[in-house]
Amino acid sequence: MVNGEDKAVLVVGSYAQDLVWNSKTFPAPGETLVGKFRTGPGGKGSNQAVAAARVSNGTKVMFCGCVGDDLFGTGARDFQAKQGIDVRVKVHPTIPTGTAGILVNDEGQNSIVVALGSNLELKSEDVSDDMLQSAGIIVMQHEIDPAVNEAVLSRARALGVTTVLNPAPMAPISETTLASVDILAPNETEFATMLQQRGIEVNVDLSKDPIEQVTTAIAEASAALPVRTVVVTLGSRGVCVYDKEAMDTPIFIPAFHVHCVDSTGAGDAFIGGFATKFVENGGDVVDAAKFGNATAALSVTKEGTAPAMPTRGEVEDMLQ
Ligand code: ATP
Repeated sequence: MVNGEDKAVLVVGSYAQDLVWNSKTFPAPGETLVGKFRTGPGGKGSNQAVAAARVSNGTKVMFCGCVGDDLFGTGARDFQAKQGIDVRVKVHPTIPTGTAGILVNDEGQNSIVVALGSNLELKSEDVSDDMLQSAGIIVMQHEIDPAVNEAVLSRARALGVTTVLNPAPMAPISETTLASVDILAPNETEFATMLQQRGIEVNVDLSKDPIEQVTTAIAEASAALPVRTVVVTLGSRGVCVYDKEAMDTPIFIPAFHVHCVDSTGAGDAFIGGFATKFVENGGDVVDAAKFGNATAALSVTKEGTAPAMPTRGEVEDMLQ
């Protein structure tokens, strides 16, 4: 998993325009309410690329996805370019850019409709061999066609690129896909669900039980997974890293104590920070996870997802 110098971070995945309406209550069927509106860039792939680019110290960050030939798609590419991302986005002529329609009531509850739209039009061949060859790490998630994940991760593996799968949102993962993953990076719920789908019960509550029990459970469960490294994010508790070939037991990295304003996108911030540091440090997963942990902690202190991603300076100050 050691990468040469000047290698890039390549994120392949989704862009979705977040459309958020706040109103006192949710509208009943047939009802019209007056509320407030805001919109912003979202989608797990794009958020992770933004996080990676903002904390980069010169490492190139590429994003490959598919948007529609519409205002949201243009806005997406402009926003990403302004973050310093090398934007390798396909524009689909007819299918609209992905959107997430989010209704939030005064109690802070939300109801969401996601339309993946053009994200499902991304094909394996849109990720060129040139892109893969220039990457030191490739990061993928679950908001595009699973067949594309399978094909691209397999091609990346064959070219010796370190592959990361953030299996979010949770969906069944094919054995072929998993066989091409070097680093599996789920949150605690995705990790437990993945194992259940393989007939393995995790008899520990990863979000509540003592950390010693959690790390033991992660070690035992990881034995059943055909990936070398498992990085499980544990929300405000921190993150657990287990390289099965290099470590006897998983290493737990506690979360930073911060004032949490909005934890949405914390997972994306972690992955972005992790990926950039991994390329910079030549493949040290623990150091990368510490950096991702700080990136994510800072992201929860601000509202929103992509706009809440911290800068390199902020992360370095936190790690001092
Ligand atoms: P989301 O779906 O909201 O993007 P996630 O469920 O994928 O998040 P989490 O496990 O909740 O991911 O969080 C990812 C990382 O963010 C954690 O491992 C931790 O480093 C950091 N983090 C999350 N919440 C907090 C918090 N309240 N304080 C400090 N760090 C946090």
